[in-house]
Amino acid sequence: MPPAGVAIGCRGGVLPPSSVVRPRAPDPAQPRTGPRSAARRGAAGFLRPAPPDRLWRYRLAVMTYSGRVTVGGPADVHELKDLMITKVAVGPMENNAYLLRCRATDEQLLIDAANDAGTLLGTIGHDGIASVVTTHRHGDHWQALAEVVAATGARTHAGREDAEGIPVPTDVLVDDGDTVRVGQVELTARHLVGHTPGSIALVYDDPHGHPHVFTGDCLFPGGVGNTFKDPEAFARLIQDVETKIFDVLPDETWVYPGHGNDTTLGAERPRLPEWHARGW
Ligand SMILES: [Zn+2]
Repeated sequence: MPPAGVAIGCRGGVLPPSSVVRPRAPDPAQPRTGPRSAARRGAAGFLRPAPPDRLWRYRLAVMTYSGRVTVGGPADVHELKDLMITKVAVGPMENNAYLLRCRATDEQLLIDAANDAGTLLGTIGHDGIASVVTTHRHGDHWQALAEVVAATGARTHAGREDAEGIPVPTDVLVDDGDTVRVGQVELTARHLVGHTPGSIALVYDDPHGHPHVFTGDCLFPGGVGNTFKDPEAFARLIQDVETKIFDVLPDETWVYPGHGNDTTLGAERPRLPEWHARGW
């Protein structure tokens, strides 16, 4: 069903400020500039800032990424060693779209062509996208899908049970455990039932760091997704989120939801009993 009202309806919960994820502090043991920095003096002898070397640029991006984006505002880029993740907010429901770029091949994949094709295509740029994944069937997650596919020729992916609710043909029906590739980077799909019958999350298990998971509307800071006051749907969703996400991924796992701010599994894990007790 289409989401009712405002975006918060899809979240199914409040967003306490304590859920905001703070970027990790830099390691003071690491040098802050490249080896050439000492020699970089201008003609007048003033010290010019050295261009950051590759490692520092990586650390800086990890450090400065907050995942806090607003509609009409700039994107935020989480630069991992093998993958760049660009987060942008679009549309009246303040949906998050995530552009993934393989750093070895420059192939790109978009998660949720949610709204505002102009902004999404501008973020995608001239390199285009090979694939677009729709996390689930709700209309706020595919408003720009037809236009983005027409402009890029991207192959469309969606969960098998939700494809019928998405008005753009799905090229690849995704099942639990399937691999979704962007260039040389592999993500694993997790089928999560309850917010919709065919929602999927995508897990990137970064070999150089902690896992990252794109949860659509199934997991947010402060709770699982909206199950529309259906106790059975809630029981199923929290079971799937626990067994396929919390039970198998570490606390450091970074969570990228379909609306609002990011979080980590470690920030949310202590609240699982509270979510069970309240029933949403
Ligand atoms: Zn939804």
